Amino acid sequence: MRYLCGMMKIIFATGNPGKLREASEVLGEAFEIVTPTALGITEDIPETGSTLQENSLQKARYLYERTGLPCFADDTGLEVDALGGAPGIHTARYAGPGHDNQANMDKLLAELLHAENRRARFHTVITLILPGGQPRFFEGFCEGAIALRKAGCGGFGYDPVFLPDAYPGRTLAEVSEEEKNAVSHRGNALRALAAWLKNSRL
Ligand code: IMP
Repeated sequence: MRYLCGMMKIIFATGNPGKLREASEVLGEAFEIVTPTALGITEDIPETGSTLQENSLQKARYLYERTGLPCFADDTGLEVDALGGAPGIHTARYAGPGHDNQANMDKLLAELLHAENRRARFHTVITLILPGGQPRFFEGFCEGAIALRKAGCGGFGYDPVFLPDAYPGRTLAEVSEEEKNAVSHRGNALRALAAWLKNSRL
């Protein structure tokens, strides 16, 4: 599959520049990561599954069927213990359709107003599809707690309300991109993917 002396092209189902940088750093120089947009695939990729695994599989399969190239896709959810694991698969649209991250975080903080247990984790599932192969799944977690209020302006999504165990007293929006990637759910899933790709000597 590796084209002799060349880099293996692999499509990552994302339009998020931060995620692309993170994946490029973890997968290293052996892989050329290509986005769907760079290949002219600009439509929204369907995400109608009921688990993170189903959604990431759906996105990876969609791209594989369109291109025949090695592809991977990720799906992430925030799992809050006091909410029985919610918002989970509904993380992106927690405050309802058409609402943004600020509204999602406001809803989460309101739900947890009187909660003593604020434990939570980000959970990522990556699906990899290689030509002729079965889909493979890689998981990553980032353990932490939901803050009492938003803090910081780095990162994206729910970062201002997530206090990772790895950096006590700081939200993910208050740490550097390198610090976040070193402990993040997606970083951990990407490292599992990278280790598998390396061991399989494609
Ligand atoms: P997606 O699977 O990356 O599309 O993300 C689903 C939801 O989780 C969206 O609301 C994202 O904003 C949120 N999310 C994903 N990754 C992160 C992260 O690293 N930090 C904060 N929120 C995230």
